[in-house]
Amino acid sequence: MRFLILSLLISLLSGCAQNPVTGSTDFVMMSESQEMAIGRQADEQIKKQYKVYGSRSLQDYVNKVGQRIAKQSHRPDLQYHFTVLDTPDINAFALPGGYVYITRGILAYLNSEAELAAVLGHEIGHVTARHGVRQQSAAQAANIGLTIASIFVPEINTMGGSNLANIVGGALLSGYGRDHELEADRLGAEYLTRTAYDPQAIITVIGVLKNQELKDAELAKQEGREPRRYHGVFASHPDNDTRLHQAVGEAEKNGAAHAHFEGRREFLAATDGMIFNDNSEQGIVRNNTFYHDELGIAVQFPKNWQVHNLPTSLVAVSPQGEAQLQMKLDESPRGTPGEYARRLVGSGAQVRSLDVNGLPAAIFDLPNTAGGVVFHNKRAFVLQAQGKTRNNLTAYRDDIISTVRSFHALSDEERQRVKPLTLHVITARTGDTFANLSHNSPLGLSAESYLRLINARYPSGEPQAGQLIKVVR
Ligand SMILES: [Zn+2]
Repeated sequence: MRFLILSLLISLLSGCAQNPVTGSTDFVMMSESQEMAIGRQADEQIKKQYKVYGSRSLQDYVNKVGQRIAKQSHRPDLQYHFTVLDTPDINAFALPGGYVYITRGILAYLNSEAELAAVLGHEIGHVTARHGVRQQSAAQAANIGLTIASIFVPEINTMGGSNLANIVGGALLSGYGRDHELEADRLGAEYLTRTAYDPQAIITVIGVLKNQELKDAELAKQEGREPRRYHGVFASHPDNDTRLHQAVGEAEKNGAAHAHFEGRREFLAATDGMIFNDNSEQGIVRNNTFYHDELGIAVQFPKNWQVHNLPTSLVAVSPQGEAQLQMKLDESPRGTPGEYARRLVGSGAQVRSLDVNGLPAAIFDLPNTAGGVVFHNKRAFVLQAQGKTRNNLTAYRDDIISTVRSFHALSDEERQRVKPLTLHVITARTGDTFANLSHNSPLGLSAESYLRLINARYPSGEPQAGQLIKVVR
């Protein structure tokens, strides 16, 4: 892939192409067919990393809105592809050649078709202005593969496995820089105006997502996961961003005066029933218990530990981060749990074979590590803890052993709980408040904040009677 891009760029260094937006000739740009070839290849990789969201009707709806805007763009003849990705990440991005992606994570926070159009319009702006190609020199491109245009890049961190960084060979993805982001906003606003959506929706969306980012840092801490935040392109709140207001105002002024289509009802109908937060296929953490439907297991982590359900592993971290407990899976273990544990920690170690909720298991307890191995359905589940120091580990020995002892096969009642949460659109009744709509919510203590955020009523708004609102079940 890298080689392909490098050779493409080298062959192009002598060529020129016209920039579709400015009309000027841009020296380092590649031809449209080469741009599309790169987009196609990267699209395959994106779809290997992220699952495409399973709802055909939602895909069709997003595609319909996207195609309508693309027709009004500076590159109306390009073949565009709009895809909803099955991830709670808050993100939208574009590849060269007309490939645009939006996550179900971001869709949960939008409240109208105009806001969806705003996100797609911004991404189309990156495509038409060819930011993906324009920004980098050949040397940079060879280094990072390609830059994916993104308004909301989730924070890349060393623990996360299946994020976009893998696609570009581990290079750090960043936004496009303030100037290109602003240009994408300006172009997006222009396309929205031409498609009869209110370009102010761009400012609304950025405001909603800024609130989401601010609150999510807190929620993530409570829920023991990484924050779902977008890249710090919008350092200031959009209300105070004069350049953004100017860009949108310009588009409004230049556009023909016609009625704006908001499409609140249409958008809410299209996203009704959509999965919210984790998808159960990766397992679900509720009240510090990890449930995995396909593996048919559950394990309860200590109450005040943070549980990180990462794509490649499950890690629980003690309150001050002095100890961590990781669960790994072995698909084809040999021997008994006791033998397995001895191979893992050394033959001289204290290993005790036992029965954990009807499953063959072994517990090991050494100065520098503690944990256990449980066999279930021909698989071995290894729970192993490490402390920053031996003393740290000693303080948590009981917690660690209790966690191993909590391991059990999923019950029918628990299987119900593993179902992913979904959005539901309801009509608010007189007296409804986000507080009372949050009673007994599966989102627990965070429910009220989530409901306000997804309904664009954060921090203190309440539903009005007769209005359509989203709840999570
Ligand atoms: Zn952008």
